[in-house]
Amino acid sequence: MKYGIGTKVVRGFKGYDPHTGAVSFPIYQSATFRHPGLYQTTGYDYSRLQNPTREELENTIANLENGKFGFAFSSGMAAVSTVLSLFSPGDHIIVSDDLYGGTFRLFDEIYKKYGIGFSYVNTSGIEEIEDAVRNNTRAIFVETPSNPMMKVADLRKISELTKNKDMLLIVDNTFLTPYFQRPLELGADIVIHSATKYLGGHNDTLAGLVVVNDDELAERLKFVQKSEGAVLSPFDSWLILRGIKTLGVRLEKQQENAMKIAEWLRTNKNVTKVYYVGLPDHEGYSISKSQASGFGAMISFNVKDKLIVEKVLEKVQLILFAESLGGVESLITYPVVQTHSAIPEEMRERIGVNDTLLRLSVGIEDAEDIIADLEQALE
Ligand SMILES: *Cc1c(COP(=O)(O)O)cnc(C)c1O
Repeated sequence: MKYGIGTKVVRGFKGYDPHTGAVSFPIYQSATFRHPGLYQTTGYDYSRLQNPTREELENTIANLENGKFGFAFSSGMAAVSTVLSLFSPGDHIIVSDDLYGGTFRLFDEIYKKYGIGFSYVNTSGIEEIEDAVRNNTRAIFVETPSNPMMKVADLRKISELTKNKDMLLIVDNTFLTPYFQRPLELGADIVIHSATKYLGGHNDTLAGLVVVNDDELAERLKFVQKSEGAVLSPFDSWLILRGIKTLGVRLEKQQENAMKIAEWLRTNKNVTKVYYVGLPDHEGYSISKSQASGFGAMISFNVKDKLIVEKVLEKVQLILFAESLGGVESLITYPVVQTHSAIPEEMRERIGVNDTLLRLSVGIEDAEDIIADLEQALE
């Protein structure tokens, strides 16, 4: 049967335990597996190589992204790092200049040392990407919508640049998840998730996922995964599987809330600019409509001055002042100090991550309560 995405998230891959009928997929908390005999295997030998619970998650995310192969890691950064292991000294990668600070740090302070070159460009402009392509460019790494400026990259157009070349399009799909956006269908080669965020959805665990379609890429990723060993534990795999079941209802509610909050923020006298892809006058609105079925629930906004930032972060009561995003609880962060502190000031200023910018991850509480909290905090 071919199901819609709202059904697929509930059903998972196998969805239940075929041996016992358990509706909640079991946690196979075992490091190793008994061989039935010499040269024989049950399909599972050792949990770094494969584990049934992790495998259910890997197949589930592959199924949701319309890909063939999924891989689960102990964090989003472990997933990004594994993908970066595909490259060699001398390779060059074009990267969104507005991206998760931890990804920038991994590239700039670890992989650069190993001889991989990076160019940070505004990936919402196709010309800028074209201009950055060199003979040794092997990949374009994109976040869309970007973090925290919510810029939208045209994935179909970018994939035309990489097609038939020795170049991969890698998309960090954390912000929209396969519920709203499936980059492989738009021409991407590799999709990455921090499953810590929307897929897990409850701010209770870290996880990273990778999905590809190509057999050879899958084999290389599998090799790095088992060799480096940053695999997701059976229990954490189960938590993400459980989170995914409600991804659809959570995202619908979060998006509905986000739209109301973005519109309200615009009316507040202490707010000078609101970045939310779902606002029809957002720069990326029409591209987003053409490649995704939703806008997500991440909002950034500028306030009049830094004193207001300090006041808001002290005064919020319902909204938690905490890093991370995507969970059922609304969280507010100050990118300049938290998520994006690893990015050099010059680059931050260029992309607009300044000291009056706040980022809000909208949860599933009542929109009226979130707005009331912001209202009293912004007063
Ligand atoms: C959080 C995040 C990451 C890193 O994931 P962790 O699970 O924290 O390691 C990568 N990309 C984006 C877009 C993120 O928001």
